[in-house]
Amino acid sequence: MTAAGVSDRNDTTGGAVVPAPAPVAVPTLSIVVAAYNEEEVLDLFFARLEEVLGGIGESYEIICVNDGSRDRTAEILAAARARDPRIKFINLARNFGKELAMTAGLDHANGRAVVPLDADLQDPPELIADFVRLWREGYDVVYAVRNARNTDSWMKRRSAAAFYSVINWLSDVDIPANAGDFRLMDRKVVDALKQVRERNRFMKGLFSWVGFRQTSVSYERPPRAAGKTKFNYWKLWNFALDGITGYSTVPLRIAGYFGLLFALVAMLYGFYLLIRTIVLGTDVPGYASTMVAVIFMGGMQLVVLGIIGEYLGRLYSEAKQRPLYIVGSADGFDDPEER
Ligand code: UDP
Ligand code: MG
Repeated sequence: MTAAGVSDRNDTTGGAVVPAPAPVAVPTLSIVVAAYNEEEVLDLFFARLEEVLGGIGESYEIICVNDGSRDRTAEILAAARARDPRIKFINLARNFGKELAMTAGLDHANGRAVVPLDADLQDPPELIADFVRLWREGYDVVYAVRNARNTDSWMKRRSAAAFYSVINWLSDVDIPANAGDFRLMDRKVVDALKQVRERNRFMKGLFSWVGFRQTSVSYERPPRAAGKTKFNYWKLWNFALDGITGYSTVPLRIAGYFGLLFALVAMLYGFYLLIRTIVLGTDVPGYASTMVAVIFMGGMQLVVLGIIGEYLGRLYSEAKQRPLYIVGSADGFDDPEER
């Protein structure tokens, strides 16, 4: 990528006093943040992040992806960029969901290391200093693990724990429990991630799937600084389905085993009936057991069809090969349409 589009701000040796340090074409750090209706927290977020990044002393860019917000998020991002050209933003054409918004951000990041984090300050920017230190020691990925989930409700804690045990049991990739998207990734990890263009993406799975030398840092996850959560249980359930179907075909195989098991039971039962009829002669009663068998089998078939449907639906959406996201407008990049 050339620096043509930013060359006017690229001259750090100009000597003139500039209000904010000039952005460099390849900064050390790219901070990627997805924001959906975050007007209440963004100013707080920038203030804290910029303070921390100033302390770390590495060159950086902050890439904000406005995920189709309906509030003043776009205006706040534009104003932030006017103040500091190291802040760049992408306005997606509609709400694509956090995973795709983050993908857009990763695609546009130029830094030698990339740090995705949430806009609501639940990912404390102070940890970035530790990330950078471990990265300098040679790790390619440094991810944050929350050591207590006491800011989450009991229900969310239980469902998260259940989800991690199911997905780690079913799939080949090991997804560390209680690690979110908050992490530092070396350029080569980001380049590897960028090659994965599946639609139903579950970033946490992808992060593990690409591999590389990984280490973790633990932290206390604070509550949201302002505003409301953008997730509800229905969204989380769908998220979990994406995670499981994306990394495991075990449910499909289970369907097959069920089929086999029931076929076997039916055969044995049929054999038993045959013998019984031969020995004892025909008898008419048996309506209840017939109904039970019919209803049970019908239900089982629907469940299995549903599982197949989950995969088929995903296959269908992948087969269409639609772009992952549509950029409505962007500022700070040489050519946002380039990819
Ligand atoms: N987010 C997004 N698109 C969405 C939903 C959420 O970009 O459709 C962003 C949101 O702005 C925030 C991050 O994803 O920066 C995490 O969301 P949130 O804090 O609401 O999730 P929680 O922490 O409650 O799981
Ligand atoms: Mg949050």
